[in-house]
Amino acid sequence: MKDVNLTRQDQVRQALEWAIAHEQLYLCYQAQTRLSDKKLLGLEALCRLSDGQLGDIPADEFIPLAENTGLIVPLEKLILTQIKRDLPLLLAQHPGIRISVNLSARHMTAPGFFPFIHDWLDSLSPLAVPQLDFEITETCFQLFNESHIEGLKQLRHRGPRIAMDDFGSGQSSLSRLHTLPFDIIKLDKQFAQQISHPMVYAIIKAAVDFTRQFNIGLIVEGVETQQQCAALADLGCDTVQGYYFGHPERLAHWLNSNNT
Ligand code: C2E
Ligand code: CA
Ligand code: CA
Repeated sequence: MKDVNLTRQDQVRQALEWAIAHEQLYLCYQAQTRLSDKKLLGLEALCRLSDGQLGDIPADEFIPLAENTGLIVPLEKLILTQIKRDLPLLLAQHPGIRISVNLSARHMTAPGFFPFIHDWLDSLSPLAVPQLDFEITETCFQLFNESHIEGLKQLRHRGPRIAMDDFGSGQSSLSRLHTLPFDIIKLDKQFAQQISHPMVYAIIKAAVDFTRQFNIGLIVEGVETQQQCAALADLGCDTVQGYYFGHPERLAHWLNSNNT
């Protein structure tokens, strides 16, 4: 029975603690699609929390709370256990696709993270390891010191790619960009959503040119309309993610769909 005098934040925290203890968090996967032929290139794992009384709690609400309370560490360990279970099934159904995993900088900078994630990689099929992308929010790179950067380089050396998530959304790491180990930029959803504005269009164009020049992957997030797709195709954007191509769906959906 939940105390009605608790604040919403306390209630969400209780729901989260309960869901972690009872392994009731679950994953949805959202498509990353090639624009030219609509081929499924990858799936991003997104965590979901549903509470008997509060209903579905948005990730944008419970992830920051998990980060501020330290619950992000057990939460991500649970998520990584589930991904380990889902990976062989997804790769069997969709050979060659990539699986994107969000990692919180709060977890990555916590003691023991790097040994933990290496153990996790060791526990996977060696064929699955190079299919992984670790997504790290751009602003979080600022929390990393030299030893974290070195740890990231070693992770990347084992095969997974590193994606800079929400690029352009916050305080930018532009001045440090050339010192950071990453393979992919995920352009924050606000860009695709405002692409009809000439200045935003020019910024996306600059991101396309820049990533192409340095052989960096580019994924444009938050694509919702045919018009946005057409404008992105004109710019030569290759990979997109967003509601236009589909909402995040449970594992069963992806085990019953083909590769397009
Ligand atoms: P994100 O990593 O940027 O994930 C993309 C978010 O955008 C997801 O929200 C997705 O549902 C939403 N989205 C996808 N396409 C569209 C679109 O066309 N339009 C709009 N408006 N939104 C779209 P979600 O699942 O609510 O997750 C929110 C954030 O919570 C994620 O943002 C990520 O930062 C965090 N998150 C989710 N799962 C995990 C996790 O397992 N670990 C960590 N560390 N963070 C997670
Ligand atoms: Ca992400
Ligand atoms: Ca993002």
